[in-house]
Amino acid sequence: MVESFPMPPKKPKISVDLVIPVYNEQGVVEQTYAELCQVIDASPHKFSIYYIDDGSEDGTVASLNALAEKDKRVVVLELSRNFGHQAALTAGIDAAQGDFVISMDADGQHPPEMIPQMVALLEQGYDIVQAQRVEDSALSFKKVTSSAFYSLINTISGTEMVPGAADFRGMSRQAVDALKSMPEYHRFLRGMVSAMGYKSVILPYHETKRVAGRTKYSLGKMFRLAMDAIFSFSLVPLYIGMSAGVMFLCLAALEMVYVYSFWLKGDTSTLAPGWSSLMFIILIASGVILIVLGFIGVYIGYIFQQVKQRPVYHLKKRAE
Ligand code: UDP
Ligand code: MG
Repeated sequence: MVESFPMPPKKPKISVDLVIPVYNEQGVVEQTYAELCQVIDASPHKFSIYYIDDGSEDGTVASLNALAEKDKRVVVLELSRNFGHQAALTAGIDAAQGDFVISMDADGQHPPEMIPQMVALLEQGYDIVQAQRVEDSALSFKKVTSSAFYSLINTISGTEMVPGAADFRGMSRQAVDALKSMPEYHRFLRGMVSAMGYKSVILPYHETKRVAGRTKYSLGKMFRLAMDAIFSFSLVPLYIGMSAGVMFLCLAALEMVYVYSFWLKGDTSTLAPGWSSLMFIILIASGVILIVLGFIGVYIGYIFQQVKQRPVYHLKKRAE
């Protein structure tokens, strides 16, 4: 009798979800989808593409729905209005189910050819594969403001942020779940991902030109993102009052020395009557008020940290 051995169970395919926020990109989605397909069709992994329509007012939704109709891998999530890039990314990351999640832009500026390398690094055990834009030498407004922003945020925040980091990154399921456990409203995902920890690697890339259309990051949106980053990742602005208060107290001490020097010289005639005491009172009172405001600032800082409801830690592994 011929014995039959059970076939070894087939290793389930790794599933990779691409999360792509889209806002008024009618002119680009079809082309960038086609470029994406060239990469994912050649991959052995199981891909899904989550397009998040961030309240587009042009024909983007129709184009996306047409893609979903002909390609089962495409999922379209339509937001009720324009919530912004970070919110749209969050919606996609919340919906994604895959083993790995890769977020990228819809405009072709994040080269899809990097996806296989990102997946390979995730397979090697990295939890976060962060793409970093390397600048060519030409200066532009965006590059100057971006490098100024990163040096500021790295000075005033306790979280180390990668300069030029884009929202083009791959994450393991564990990293995605950790990110999902941070429910804060003002979201600066680059910072939140840095704050999580986990095994990370940086992948440099050269950003290419937009396939079509214009940037959807208006100056106002860029400013709001910078504000979200600064105020969510630094309590330094709250402590400015306290430092100013200490400065006023130092000024009061200096003023005392200054006035005393007139008394030492025995020449108080040049001192305007009442100036010394009035100045002293003003400096001391301002100092005390600012310091007390600073204390209130510290408590507000603590409350702010609390209401963000970030987990106190992220667990990496448990061995028994
Ligand atoms: N985006 C979005 N909502 C917005 C602004 C932008 O979903 O309110 C999308 C946009 O369609 C693109 C990505 O976010 O896929 C990055 O935006 P953009 O390319 O305009 O930014 P830039 O590359 O100029 O920084
Ligand atoms: Mg872009």
